[in-house]
Amino acid sequence: MNSNELESLIRTILSEKLEPARRENTTSALFDQVDQAIEAAHTAFLTYQQSPLKVRKTVIAAIRHELIPHLRELAERGAKETGMGNAEDKYLKNRVALEKTPGVEDLITEALTGDEGMVLFEYSPFGVIGSVAPSTNPTETIINNCISMLAAGNTVFFSPHPGAKDVSLWLVEKIESIAFTACGIHNLVTCLREPSFESTQQMMQHPLIALLAITGGPAIVNMGLKSGKKTIGAGAGNPPSLVDETAVLDKAAQDIVSGASFDYNLPCTAEKSLIVVESVASALLAEMQKCGALLVSGAENIDKLRKVAIIDGHANKVLVGKSPLALLKAAGLPTPDREPRLLIMEVSADDQLVTVEQLMPILPVVRVPDYDTGLALALKVEGGLHHTATMHSQNVSRLNQAAQRLQTSIFVKNGPSYAGIGVGAEGFATFTIATPTGEGTTSARTFARHRRCVLANAFSIR
Ligand code: NAD
Repeated sequence: MNSNELESLIRTILSEKLEPARRENTTSALFDQVDQAIEAAHTAFLTYQQSPLKVRKTVIAAIRHELIPHLRELAERGAKETGMGNAEDKYLKNRVALEKTPGVEDLITEALTGDEGMVLFEYSPFGVIGSVAPSTNPTETIINNCISMLAAGNTVFFSPHPGAKDVSLWLVEKIESIAFTACGIHNLVTCLREPSFESTQQMMQHPLIALLAITGGPAIVNMGLKSGKKTIGAGAGNPPSLVDETAVLDKAAQDIVSGASFDYNLPCTAEKSLIVVESVASALLAEMQKCGALLVSGAENIDKLRKVAIIDGHANKVLVGKSPLALLKAAGLPTPDREPRLLIMEVSADDQLVTVEQLMPILPVVRVPDYDTGLALALKVEGGLHHTATMHSQNVSRLNQAAQRLQTSIFVKNGPSYAGIGVGAEGFATFTIATPTGEGTTSARTFARHRRCVLANAFSIR
């Protein structure tokens, strides 16, 4: 063996021996054990916390810049792996998360000055945040929370839904590598190679987790709230859309069909039922059909759809986020040649299609005699979840009254529901809408401690 061959052999042996170790050690975003992943994120936090704000800004700018070329792939992979939603809308959701989630500029310092000195109110990081992401917006939530949480100076342990494992792991690893290249700190974001419900529960009890941000259904949000840790809970919703006789009907129809069909109704913010004043109901339904909605009529047909969509009082998981054609097929109903955007059907106010959050492109429609009855029903349907509602009306007093009575975190007037998360509308993007815990549409400052820093008897220079 000559010296070149010997060197090559040594390199091969070393790389075979070192590679698995390298994968297990702290130089990667992905770990086998919850402890390892959280400890690595905590070590990263200790350095990140001491770094100047410009480091955070550089990291966030790099994430925005480097992820852009991967958004289509992310959307396609997310739709394929979860079997829910569609790649086109997921692309828009991922894009808005990347471009419109506020960064460090969200942490606005306030100052008070007077004869007795000066007080600063500033936002400081918590530490390692345990962020639980849903299967319905897997990568959108990771991008959105990542930017918000890193902007506030935290590091993050992500618990993705096991049903969105591959695409989530790919994304966390990618973000970690972008962040490391930008600032030289490893493990600003971490995750497990095999995320599971058990590991999420273990994470919630870990002493180094300073804050929980839970985005998901009621069971997991309640689990977080019972953990004893500070929890930002972004829970389920059941957003009603209320239309009165003053609404501009063609515009309302367009907005409602667009909002309720967006990503096959997966967003927690999407219109889940339509409550319309009798005098304009038929005209509105006709306009909605012009916009691509398919009216399912006949009690028997509606019954078939209901039976497959809702099982034992809950959305049938197998059909969550499926296309309108897939839903028609599952119900054994005739399918049109062209895919409808949305399935609509007239039902009574207490129909399960109205009362259960189904997350499917099915929009039950309830006629009401007048606006007051409609608002009372909208309140009942929203169920005190403090999530989202939309309303179409030209009557400002009614819009004001409904917003005040419903007390939802998002209230969209004369627009599609997705306007409330920054898609095609003013306002920053968010995919973590903290409903039971009341922070509402979250951004960097939500994931920061609000601290008071006092200088006695100085620096009032007025
Ligand atoms: P889900 O509750 O099934 O899962 C959410 C997350 O919790 C996942 O990461 C999952 O792995 C984890 N999880 C679930 N059960 C668990 C258990 N027993 N132990 C440990 N971890 C567990 O929800 P989903 O189907 O992925 O998402 C849809 C739900 O999330 C809907 O109810 C929707 O309204 C809600 N959601 C809310 C918001 C918001 O911002 N408020 C955003 C998106 C989704």
